[in-house]
Amino acid sequence: MKRAAKETWRFATTAIHGGQQPDPSTGAIMPPVYLTSTYVQKSVSRHPLYDYARTIHPTRLALEKNLAAIEGGRYGLAFASGMAAISSVLLGLQSGDHVISGRDIYGGTYRVFQNVFQKFGVRFTFVDTTQAQALRKAVKPSTRLIWIETPSNPLLQITDIRAVCEVARRHKICVAVDNTFATPFLQRPLGLGADFAVHSTTKYLGGHSDVVGGGVALNDVRLYERLKYLQNAVGAIPGPLDSFLVLRGIKTLGARMRQHCANALEVAEYLSRHPKVSRVYYPGLPAHPGHAIASGQMSGGFGGIVSFELNAPVKATLKVLSQFKVFSLAESLGGVESLLCHPVSMTHASIPKSLRIKSGLTDGLIRLSVGIEDAEDLLEDLEGALAAV
Ligand SMILES: *Cc1c(COP(=O)(O)O)cnc(C)c1O
Repeated sequence: MKRAAKETWRFATTAIHGGQQPDPSTGAIMPPVYLTSTYVQKSVSRHPLYDYARTIHPTRLALEKNLAAIEGGRYGLAFASGMAAISSVLLGLQSGDHVISGRDIYGGTYRVFQNVFQKFGVRFTFVDTTQAQALRKAVKPSTRLIWIETPSNPLLQITDIRAVCEVARRHKICVAVDNTFATPFLQRPLGLGADFAVHSTTKYLGGHSDVVGGGVALNDVRLYERLKYLQNAVGAIPGPLDSFLVLRGIKTLGARMRQHCANALEVAEYLSRHPKVSRVYYPGLPAHPGHAIASGQMSGGFGGIVSFELNAPVKATLKVLSQFKVFSLAESLGGVESLLCHPVSMTHASIPKSLRIKSGLTDGLIRLSVGIEDAEDLLEDLEGALAAV
């Protein structure tokens, strides 16, 4: 039986079967991991599907078809990391091109924009993309790309993807959405009008903290051909084993995301009631300023990340970080295990203080990646740690 992605399939079915078919030579239900760099060719005249493993290999092809299927896009491309995916999208620009980027974004994204691409003449304006007015004002004749994260990292700000795409379309600007936090289980940017749905597959798609990877899904054949060309030209590609691990992770994405969302909502509600907590950032809370927009463009939940601030000096907050028994203090997010981090000194250390203050990223902010353990154990862990303040 041949399995192409069927448009009528629901999410979990698509995640498991989308773009997949048994290995034609053995019937293996999972794609092979061929540890080979090159493929023997029958002749020079017929171009084979596989010739050299930077260009494509069977495991990556299976993953790329699956990435397209879960994002509801025509094409998928897999990369060596989220940063490789992001950089490859940016490599499609020319010197002199202008990019409007969200202000609350992953620290590494800010760093590569500012410290790497700027050097090659690409110009950036960082704005609060939750404000359509600020976005419209930032558009220049040379603007070629709008880069957004929603929910954003680490403040969980919600940008209206449809509204951004409308502004972009009027000026013939491409829109890229970093969909790492939401995952296609909750939000499909291409269906809302975006040109690129970008992922760090290291996070929820891989889901088990055992691989680093990236991905892009897209619909436009010209953008796809250009990105595929760049992917091969710069060699920002994942090997067979990494591709296999990401693909295996995606198969349980639906089941995992349901649990991440349910646990995160419980954690967010618990923190909102806690007397020592001064602020909770979670788009699933009705009090969150982006709740209505999130409810409109996401479905099935609001994700597994919750950030919060304590009613305490920064020093006391830093002490709390080491009081947890289930949550581990670590970079990254989106794995089955709960993690916590201090963005200002960890994931977002490369963002200058002035910009951090503008976007509201305080020295006291704690970011939780709520895992899929039993919610009761997570709440007890928080209870114990906060008792130390
Ligand atoms: C982690 C992360 C990235 C970078 O991905 P890597 O796989 O670490 O290169 C990009 N965007 C977001 C939102 C992330 O959380």
